[in-house]
Amino acid sequence: MNAYSIFDLLKRRVVLLDGATGTELMKRVPFPGPCPELVNLENPEAVQSVHGDYFLAGADAVATNSLGANPLKLAAFGLSDQCRELNLAAARIAAAARPSGGFVAGDIGPTGKFLKPQGEHVESEFEDGFALQAAALAEGGADFLLIETMFDLREALCAVRGARRGAPGLPVWACLTFNRTKRGFFTLMGDGLEKAARAFEAEGLPVFGANCTLTSGDMADLIGEWRPLTSSPLIAQANAGKPEISGDRVVYAQSMEDYLREIPRLIRNGASVIGGCCGTTPEYIRRMASLVKGV
Ligand SMILES: [Zn+2]
Repeated sequence: MNAYSIFDLLKRRVVLLDGATGTELMKRVPFPGPCPELVNLENPEAVQSVHGDYFLAGADAVATNSLGANPLKLAAFGLSDQCRELNLAAARIAAAARPSGGFVAGDIGPTGKFLKPQGEHVESEFEDGFALQAAALAEGGADFLLIETMFDLREALCAVRGARRGAPGLPVWACLTFNRTKRGFFTLMGDGLEKAARAFEAEGLPVFGANCTLTSGDMADLIGEWRPLTSSPLIAQANAGKPEISGDRVVYAQSMEDYLREIPRLIRNGASVIGGCCGTTPEYIRRMASLVKGV
């Protein structure tokens, strides 16, 4: 682990994360199969080259290719018993691409399942799975853990507790994904900004925020609403617009120029950690790096 911590950097300026991993991986591995994390074992060079491109573009930290590598999600592919192996590989690959002064975020995403009463799962089940994942990410060399794309605050809190149990030495950051509604920004499960801020603060999370679903303009609005509700550093990682089907591909509706035009407002509105989500590329990160490092 770096002696120089990502918190030292956060005190000095806006921290830059990476952009989308999946779409970049598809450019290198056209038929990755249904489980993107399996590429960590089958084609580690491709995964490492995605991380390398993001570091080269100016990202301070890259997220490991492990978003769906929790046992409950892996079960859909019959891979739940490979949780440790897939996460360990994910972290080792990113650590091998890490330059001096760069950081590896061990990426943890949703199970895709629901807790009781909506679903059939209990919190301890979620926590146990996330703890396994976090332990392997830490063992592989992650500098901190980044929980992302959570659509249920309760599951996000399970991930925080599980991550801390599995990797007691590592800082844990977390992002929820919000939809814009007429009443404001809410997760799929109906968690609002105020409720999320209070819950993450109560859990002692040093940094939290939002990723995915929203365009950069909507994300700038969200940060503007969230900023007065907490003094914690906020993460913002917007999608390059809404996904649309074009022929046999998914394209993102917001142009890169339009996306980037909103980044200064995102920062002015109070985001301390920024990065890209679905549809963004190393070129987006290169342009964002010149904004956060050039100023
Ligand atoms: Zn996304």
